[in-house]
Amino acid sequence: MAAYRGRFAPSPTGPLHAGSLVAALASWLDARAHGGAWLVRMEDVDMPRCVPGADQLILQQLATCGLVSDEPVVWQSERGPLYQQALHLLVQQGHAYPCGCSRKDIEAALQAQGAGRERHHIAVYPGTCRPERGGLHGKPARAWRLQIPDLSEVPWSDRHLGPQTQNVATEVGDFILKRADGLWAYQLAVVVDDAAQGITHVVRGEDLADNTARQILLQRALGLPTPAYLHTPLVLGANGEKLSKQNGAQPLGVADPLQVLNAAALALGLPPQAGSVSKALTTWIGAWQA
Ligand code: GLU
Repeated sequence: MAAYRGRFAPSPTGPLHAGSLVAALASWLDARAHGGAWLVRMEDVDMPRCVPGADQLILQQLATCGLVSDEPVVWQSERGPLYQQALHLLVQQGHAYPCGCSRKDIEAALQAQGAGRERHHIAVYPGTCRPERGGLHGKPARAWRLQIPDLSEVPWSDRHLGPQTQNVATEVGDFILKRADGLWAYQLAVVVDDAAQGITHVVRGEDLADNTARQILLQRALGLPTPAYLHTPLVLGANGEKLSKQNGAQPLGVADPLQVLNAAALALGLPPQAGSVSKALTTWIGAWQA
């Protein structure tokens, strides 16, 4: 088996909060427990959502907690040519196609079908621009989509959640690889980068588990290996909802890094520590291995 390579891949849409530190700590501990490398990747493809300076702030917050990337940090905004190459390959091999539909076009097509399917408020694309259905029908290309095979039940196994399965064709549909505004979609960027960086183990928050089947299909279409996946428990806010920047999670104050690390460790079922950050991290590596 290839040597362990893990990563933490924050989107710099704001500073780290208590929830994102859990994923950072878990991915770091898992890498250290396997004697592997831990990489930080800034996922800043969705530029309108990124906050200037948040990337440097995140790196500082991580460093204060003793979590430092073993290799130079990469920024997805600088990796467009890699994503373009992957899209080109997918198109050449008949796995991706251009789509000229606006949101309104999609709604109208779904209404005409009678039964629109939706997922997280995003309609399952009805396949209007699929090549076998006549392609763009004279409309200009807006976005690029992955053509999902009709039989696309994707079983996969999570190291924490156990066996999972998703029918990507019926539950998600032909998802977007490059958006109408020209930005690269998270799914494509993450799959290309995990492979380009030789990532063998993905450890991230449970809210992202739902993307895994899509990423596995994309890996297959690109002929890339599938890493092992572990999704960590989410930290809930006072309102019982997932803690996220969107629902007002407070940025992590790292004046007392051991205190914030202890809270993250607790979410991972690890015992709180007193003393120094480095001693606490060493103790948790041992507990993670046990
Ligand atoms: N950039 C994503 C996020 O911050 C994480 C992507 C991943 O770990 O696959 O939600």
